[in-house]
Amino acid sequence: MLLTSDILDEKDKRIRAKNTDMEFPLNDKDKKLIHDMLEHLHFSQIEEKAEKYHLRPGMGLAAPQVGMNKNFFVVCHEEKENVFKNYVLINPKLISHSEELIYSSGGEGCLSVNRDVEGIVPRYARVTFTGYDVEGNKIKYRAREELAIAFQHEMDHLHGILFYDHIDPKDPYKNAEEMREI
Ligand code: ZN
Repeated sequence: MLLTSDILDEKDKRIRAKNTDMEFPLNDKDKKLIHDMLEHLHFSQIEEKAEKYHLRPGMGLAAPQVGMNKNFFVVCHEEKENVFKNYVLINPKLISHSEELIYSSGGEGCLSVNRDVEGIVPRYARVTFTGYDVEGNKIKYRAREELAIAFQHEMDHLHGILFYDHIDPKDPYKNAEEMREI
């Protein structure tokens, strides 16, 4: 399985490197990596598994975080208690979004950022992404609220952007009154 030590820290150059599109069909190694990334995220959100394998809870991972400078990300979202839904988006594109902005009340976290960062990150409340699944089928996902934040956070990784790049350290809660807290 994918361990915490397999996830690159923010200081690693590959986190900021350029990512390129995947080509289909994916090979077995890539498919296994995607499976392992989702498994890691799933286990990280189940207390006893997280403890057993020393995992920090997280709901998303992008390819550069595991040292692969390719355009894809995965999200494992707990839709309701103990019900998880997996998302894989390969060569994703943000095709539309709401005007409304939201931010996560506790701030955002990242499995590559092993420290607390104060401040809020403006995100669209609703987004639509297109991309491809592991078999190369074209897919479209609409996401809102927490899931929308996760998609935008992971998409940023594919552009070498980390969540705190959106935070002004001199004014970490800038324009909060213009957004909805979730
Ligand atoms: Zn992240």
